[in-house]
Amino acid sequence: MRTIISKLWEYQQTLLEIARLNRELKTYPESIKSLEKEVASIEKKLNQTKSQLDDNLDAQKKRGEYLELCKRNLEKFESDLMEVTNQKDYSAVLNEIDYAKREIHNTEEELLKLLEDIENNKKEIEQLSELLSSKQDELEGALETFKSTNQEQIKRRNELLEVKKSLEEEIPVKYLKRFYEIAKRRNGIGVATVEKETCSACHMKIRPQKINEMRKHPDTLYFCEHCQRILVILPDSEEQ
Ligand SMILES: [Zn+2]
Repeated sequence: MRTIISKLWEYQQTLLEIARLNRELKTYPESIKSLEKEVASIEKKLNQTKSQLDDNLDAQKKRGEYLELCKRNLEKFESDLMEVTNQKDYSAVLNEIDYAKREIHNTEEELLKLLEDIENNKKEIEQLSELLSSKQDELEGALETFKSTNQEQIKRRNELLEVKKSLEEEIPVKYLKRFYEIAKRRNGIGVATVEKETCSACHMKIRPQKINEMRKHPDTLYFCEHCQRILVILPDSEEQ
């Protein structure tokens, strides 16, 4: 038979479970948080690489144009060389030719380096895109699982709220009032069980005489002398 006190115990356990579920429903799992961080950092890296690629392509175009210009200049200076008549002009044109050749050489080197960078950028973009899409799938799956777990928790919480309601109808108000007065001061634990002649909340000894009394009057409120909580002897613990 369920005594009023044992219902009060059930009531407390229900409240604790509801509170636990509320906490869980509020916390976003660490695994999802870290996946979100990973996705964000891959996206950032991908965007950086894409913008590097744009810059490199732009530089490639400009350096390519400059190379063409240098080549045209070289041709022009080489044909000028045929027409100069004095030594001074001759060495001036030779200087121009030297300069154009150096520029052509340097620009060709730059273009090779750019080509290599562009290839690397493209490779990296491909790898990052693949990684991003797989991480996004992983995140989506984790969110899906989280949502369905949440729904289970919400369902469980609703069931417990029903249990809470029906216990509130069964337990006399004065018991509930007393419970809340104590629970408020004692971290939500207003009822403690008697286990091996000990209070389950403060672990202090309970006099055997009191335990006998409790057994005789199962619906009377008895309190732990040490922590002042309501004491209950549960059918299970009585068997011990
Ligand atoms: Zn106690």
